[in-house]
Amino acid sequence: MSGSGIRFDRVSVAYDGNTVLHALDLTVEPGEVMALLGPSGSGKTTALRAVAGFVRPASGRVFIGGTDVTGLPPHRRGIGMVVQQYALFPHLRVKDNVAFGLRAQKAAKAEIPGRVAEALEMTGMGAYAERYPRELSGGQQQRVAIARALAIRPGVLLLDEPLSALDAQLRSGMLAELARLHRELPDVSILYVTHDQVEALTLADRIAVMDRARLQDCGTPQELYRTPRTEFTASFVGNANLLPVTAGAGAALLGGAELKVDTGGVAPGATATLCVRPHLVGLGDGPNALTGRVSEVQWRGATHRLYVDVAGERIKADVRELRTPPGIGDQVTVHFAPEDAVLLTAAVSEGAAASRRAGVAADG
Ligand code: ADP
Repeated sequence: MSGSGIRFDRVSVAYDGNTVLHALDLTVEPGEVMALLGPSGSGKTTALRAVAGFVRPASGRVFIGGTDVTGLPPHRRGIGMVVQQYALFPHLRVKDNVAFGLRAQKAAKAEIPGRVAEALEMTGMGAYAERYPRELSGGQQQRVAIARALAIRPGVLLLDEPLSALDAQLRSGMLAELARLHRELPDVSILYVTHDQVEALTLADRIAVMDRARLQDCGTPQELYRTPRTEFTASFVGNANLLPVTAGAGAALLGGAELKVDTGGVAPGATATLCVRPHLVGLGDGPNALTGRVSEVQWRGATHRLYVDVAGERIKADVRELRTPPGIGDQVTVHFAPEDAVLLTAAVSEGAAASRRAGVAADG
């Protein structure tokens, strides 16, 4: 299967005068997995459907493999697509479901059985060719849907919340399966729509973070997780603590406490947001110690999530399961290492996110 790559060139989509996708610039390299991550209604599916050809942009162009496909019908774009609800034909056997796209494409008749078998093997469904969809579990049906998308040997695979309909255990198994498929199809570009950060962090080479019809940020999972550039990214990816502070010299002031952090280019006196991940907040004394009262305790199996009220802020700390967790109202001290915090300001965020996005656009 040959790789294609996808490029959005200032793609906007509007419904009834409402812009639901605003001037999206984004490039997915051949062989890359790009996750579109964001809350419900942020425009992710619309972006995917613009690549598939199911919605027409109000402005901008879509390129697949360097070719402008903006005016092409879906079946001429060389894409495979999988949606949440499987969308298999109930009256067709598995093999005929998988052959469907090939027949629509007018593939040579003699070739079809081999291509169908190959696609079913790839998804571990080789033994189920004669069954009807109703004779399969949800996870198996989704594998057939993936096989159907792969049978046409697409250069681009579009996945729209493909795991949302599966239960948690199946989901993690299918995630591993998708990662394996990606390794077996190193040239196929994958655009993966999800609202689930774990799926995005696990599968994607890069993540495009969407909110309110706009691309907010884009980077590798590690970049977005470790050095988020916007508050939205910091909170949506990894649910970070976001604390309003005032920048000092090599420090941030939270209430009366002076916290040592890398202030980067933030001028002393500027208001900023201190971002630190809950799992990097430790219980007990240490660098950047803050003392406050526990307002909530949640047992999560391997960890305890503590909410600690400090200087009017609620700090989340994920600590290893405690034998004797503190009670609500108890006074505790939490701390974090200076290198585990990131200081964000509106100006820094806007500039950094824009240059990250521009870097993405410049790649293509
Ligand atoms: P997401 O995939 O991020 O959940 P969508 O791209 O599906 O978001 O939707 C973005 C916005 O566009 C939403 O407000 C949604 O209600 C609206 N929308 C999507 N499809 C249509 C449609 N066919 N007609 C009108 N509005 C739509």
